[in-house]
Amino acid sequence: MPPKTIEEPARHIPIYGEYEVVVLGGGPAGIAASVAAARAGRRTLLIERYGFLGGMGTAAGVTNFCGLHANVHGEMHRVVQGIASDLLARIDRLGGLNAPHLVLCKILAQAYDTAAYKIAADDLMAAHKVDLLFHALGAGVVMRDEGRIDALMVETKAGRQAVRSEIFIDCSGDGDLAARAGVPFEVGDNDGGMLYPSMMFRLNGIDPVKAGEAWRTIPALMERAEAAGKHRFPRKGAIVRPQRSGIEWRVNFTQLAGPDGRAINGLEPEQLTRGEIGGRRQAVQAFEFLRTVPGFENSYIVDLPPQLGIRETRRIVGDYALSSDDVLGCASFPDAIGVNGWPIEAHVAGDVVFRFPPIPQSRGFNELPYRMLLPRGIDNLLVAGRCASMTHEGQSAARVSGACFAMGEAAGVAAALSLSGNTSPREIAVEKLQQVLKQQGAFIGRGQAVPEGL
Ligand SMILES: Cc1cc2nc3c(=O)[nH]c(=O)nc-3n(C[C@H](O)[C@H](O)[C@H](O)COP(=O)(O)OP(=O)(O)OC[C@H]3O[C@@H](n4cnc5c(N)ncnc54)[C@H](O)[C@@H]3O)c2cc1C
Repeated sequence: MPPKTIEEPARHIPIYGEYEVVVLGGGPAGIAASVAAARAGRRTLLIERYGFLGGMGTAAGVTNFCGLHANVHGEMHRVVQGIASDLLARIDRLGGLNAPHLVLCKILAQAYDTAAYKIAADDLMAAHKVDLLFHALGAGVVMRDEGRIDALMVETKAGRQAVRSEIFIDCSGDGDLAARAGVPFEVGDNDGGMLYPSMMFRLNGIDPVKAGEAWRTIPALMERAEAAGKHRFPRKGAIVRPQRSGIEWRVNFTQLAGPDGRAINGLEPEQLTRGEIGGRRQAVQAFEFLRTVPGFENSYIVDLPPQLGIRETRRIVGDYALSSDDVLGCASFPDAIGVNGWPIEAHVAGDVVFRFPPIPQSRGFNELPYRMLLPRGIDNLLVAGRCASMTHEGQSAARVSGACFAMGEAAGVAAALSLSGNTSPREIAVEKLQQVLKQQGAFIGRGQAVPEGL
């Protein structure tokens, strides 16, 4: 039988640079983490596999911020502030930000233009002197000892390179760095089933007057089309909404499963390949139906994003795992570093199931404990964003952009505090972290007055 593995010879790897803070992944968490660390005066490098920032928000065509707002006793408030506010203002100045819109009559979301997001994120990095390394895939680690990372290995067009740092922050969404360093992680529910991915796309050429509020009528039209045997849809709960210009709409309609009916696994290249091709095929099928909706007759697919939208892969095991009870019960924590106002949003087979904290009885947001950013077993690593320490259901809520910005900002400040105190992130004074976050304009809960306005 031919061997199943080959041995790669050992080699000397050039050192790209030595930093105080290295952040892997430039989504909402990584953007906020790197700005926070650099703003505290730390030499910071943000490494991203693509040539632009935004994470799923740009690379997967999400084009919509959720979780920036909370429904506080029936009133809407923007509860994620801080670095997210700076980024939003920059997107707005480029003319790329929509006014917030209601979702399910219960919560707000806010659409944006991907080009504006990319440009605004570049500007934000430059303003805070974050070093950037694009087109570099984090591919391995070299450990200083069992509990400390010495260098992150990246694969680039120039070959493999090493980046040394005092502190690392994993914002890869997939927990790539943490997993390579040996941090324990979980994938999916108790049975390994993950939230289903979707291929987002955008349509242009829509007649905005004729289309009106088509997002309200589309679900019934879908049911009718299925009942008539004209179309079959991979899921209910389609989201079809206008972007800033009413002639352009985003479509969140698809759901990608493997032959066994389970969610495509975003950690397996063969499944990802199947998901990308299947996603584009489903986009065309969705488009064939959408062209029958009044106002959409002359529309066309203007954008299919660079990659399939992955909602969930690894979630690291940290000092605390945020749960669905925490989300639905609007939990408070002594070590709160930010808040999440988005409900449980479970992308299950054939459907999307939302569960909200009671409205208007509840305050509509849970606090995010610092402990969910602290991975087991590694001293100089923080993990922020959708791969932070959460249960499967907890992650279905706090994975959205708002909470990821909040987690990232806290991780960046915590990294800087740990460097100035010459201690590990686990040992920093959490009160100091909370104080700095508040001074910088973040809302962390803990009895702080809820910010007014949207
Ligand atoms: C289809 C879909 C629809 C969604 N809809 C919404 C929505 O409407 N609103 C909302 O707020 N959220 C939505 N979400 C969720 C949200 O977009 C993500 O959960 C959020 O972007 C997570 O932020 P993050 O920073 O943790 O990770 P990500 O956004 O996943 O960013 C991770 C970044 O790390 C990079 N990266 C990964 N691995 C490596 C590596 N090894 N080396 C180098 N770089 C690496 C990636 O390229 C990426 O840029 C949606 C998600 C999907 C998939």
